[in-house]
Amino acid sequence: MDATEYELKFFHRDGFHRRVCAVCGSAFWSLGEFDRCQEAPCTPYAFIGHPGFTRPRTPHEMRETYLGFFEARGHTRVRRYPTVARWRNDVFFTQASIYDFQPWVTSGAIPPPANPLTISQPCPRFIDLEEVGRSGRHFTIFEMMAHHAFNRPDHEVYFKERCVELCHELLSGELGADPRSLTYKEEVWEGGGNLGPSLSVGLKGLELATLVFMEYIRDGDTLRPMPLTVVDTGYGLERFVWMSQGTKTAYEAVFGHAFDELRATFAPAEAAILIDHARALNFLLVDGVVPSNSKEGYFARILVRRMLRLLAKVPEAPTLIAVMDRAARDLDSDFPELGEHRDDLHRVLEAEMERYD
Ligand SMILES: [Zn+2]
Repeated sequence: MDATEYELKFFHRDGFHRRVCAVCGSAFWSLGEFDRCQEAPCTPYAFIGHPGFTRPRTPHEMRETYLGFFEARGHTRVRRYPTVARWRNDVFFTQASIYDFQPWVTSGAIPPPANPLTISQPCPRFIDLEEVGRSGRHFTIFEMMAHHAFNRPDHEVYFKERCVELCHELLSGELGADPRSLTYKEEVWEGGGNLGPSLSVGLKGLELATLVFMEYIRDGDTLRPMPLTVVDTGYGLERFVWMSQGTKTAYEAVFGHAFDELRATFAPAEAAILIDHARALNFLLVDGVVPSNSKEGYFARILVRRMLRLLAKVPEAPTLIAVMDRAARDLDSDFPELGEHRDDLHRVLEAEMERYD
């Protein structure tokens, strides 16, 4: 990608300098005098015990802060989409907020539900299943907070300049990160035949967000401009919460009391697996997934069985349904659908437990 793609007026006006990371070799923009990007492994975690934001926030508080920030700046808040991406035939799950709008909105076939918009989209990702609990930072479902803008040739909402400006204001203004401690690393994003420049945002060793600017269609070796350019951002809610609390692992910060309660009976890694899987499974089942041996049902079955195996190890363990309900209790004020279908959900779980037995 041409270096001029990242030459933003915003960076020059606000006194950012372009530097090259001594470890990964990527170029990045920062106000601070760093010789490396502020993302692991180039920079080790520096926020444990020393949070990078002014005050601690729960997932609910962080989500509201984020969505409210963008609402106050002209964005419409859009409800989450299902975690099962039934409008697409190439994937099972909604693995990023932009999946909500692919392919019909991003291709220009239908208008977006609002423009610009802000959303917090639960995204199942099972690729790191084995790392959950162990690594201290992996989840089977995470919330991708995002602000999206869809620009037509005759109607530009905003693109790189305003996007980076908003991100920087959120982090250094609203959340109180030291503006000198942020790095914006130059990357190239490519997917589904489209590509464009992107910036990954690092703070104290943690990659907090990615700002993607979809603007080209790959045509062999040449790049053609897309008729519709798209601001595709992703801000990890769990990482933001963790950064704000600076706890030893992300699980303490994200799951709070529910994690502590399970810790009374289980080792930390097991408690994390149980509450993580319960959160993911609640979304999957409410969105209509039935545990089975195929397609998305298979992932639900894996989650149920991993939980049942852990619960069976301890005689005084709570029931699967009790763990599921505990996870839902922390979410149903923000996602009322999780509270509304408890009876149906219990029936699905009981049937699956019978099959497992
Ligand atoms: Zn680096």
